[in-house]
Amino acid sequence: MQLTQHFTLAELTKSSTAERLELDNTPPPQVLPALIQTAEMLERIRSTLGVPVTVTSGYRAWAVNKAVKGATTSDHAQGRAADIVAPRYGTPLQIARALAPLVDVLGIGQLIYERFGSTSWVHVSTRVPDKRVNRVITITSAGTQLGVQEV
Ligand SMILES: [Zn+2]
Repeated sequence: MQLTQHFTLAELTKSSTAERLELDNTPPPQVLPALIQTAEMLERIRSTLGVPVTVTSGYRAWAVNKAVKGATTSDHAQGRAADIVAPRYGTPLQIARALAPLVDVLGIGQLIYERFGSTSWVHVSTRVPDKRVNRVITITSAGTQLGVQEV
């Protein structure tokens, strides 16, 4: 099922963790509008970067979110968030830096540059966090910092 021109429901619900643990990651129908909004945000990001965007994690059913040790308040579990990479544009750090000044324009509620070991990605959500200071942050194994930080 196509959510928007370039993003499918399958892409936004694919989960290697769900497959490995044989968990059902099918979103309930009431999550679909949120997933479409997320895909629309991803379209704006895609056209800004000018390259295809790969979703490494989108919707996560609660059991899947728990298995990946996602935050209990995770926007992923509500279909409002996606972790993305875009190798043809650059590193996740470069992507985060490009998008951070544009969060209002692109309708990105929250942008997180996440890096754990050699793996990094950009988390984008349609939901603006309650504490607006957390709108653009960096999360690594060392903790959370404001803004996009090379750590
Ligand atoms: Zn995420």
